[in-house]
Amino acid sequence: MDNSCPEPSPTGEVSLCIQCRKCTAGCPLADSADVPVNELIARLKLGDLDAVRAATALWECLGCHACSTRCPTGANPGEALDRFRAELAAAAKPPASRAGAFHLAFLKTLRRKGRSDEARLMLRIYLRHRPTREELRRGLAMWRKGRVRALGKAIRARRDLRKIFALARGPGGE
Ligand code: SF4
Ligand code: SF4
Repeated sequence: MDNSCPEPSPTGEVSLCIQCRKCTAGCPLADSADVPVNELIARLKLGDLDAVRAATALWECLGCHACSTRCPTGANPGEALDRFRAELAAAAKPPASRAGAFHLAFLKTLRRKGRSDEARLMLRIYLRHRPTREELRRGLAMWRKGRVRALGKAIRARRDLRKIFALARGPGGE
């Protein structure tokens, strides 16, 4: 019987995952993740997409790709998560978790203005997820110190910004 690892795939496919958990062993968020990266990949492989979408770990992922570096089969878990997040963002699928709401709201603000717009960001998140007392306290402190602009201006090079987002989406992404 051949016990050697399969050759890594140049593109990466979740179907190549053998649940060895090496990705989770190297993930910097493994201790705090609600769902470990190997399980996210297992669920993607099974087509259990709603469970992956609802996992806070999907949205707290740092995109460091330490998992992919350690993956012996070329399943490339980091890229699989990147792709899935991008698909959800493109389809404007609202994520169930607060971390997900923050991720998409931040991306939307960035795409429109080229910089963070705290007031709109908070509005988008807190309309769907009620703020905690601590968040209200911190928000108020930021407001008092002038750290929350009511009408954050966009950067001047918005055309370049659109090109960058189109490039990130790939061919025909404009
Ligand atoms: S994604 Fe790769 S490292 Fe992670 S469990 Fe699957 S085969 Fe192992
Ligand atoms: S890319 Fe995400 S899942 Fe992979 S090791 Fe980094 S934080 Fe963990």
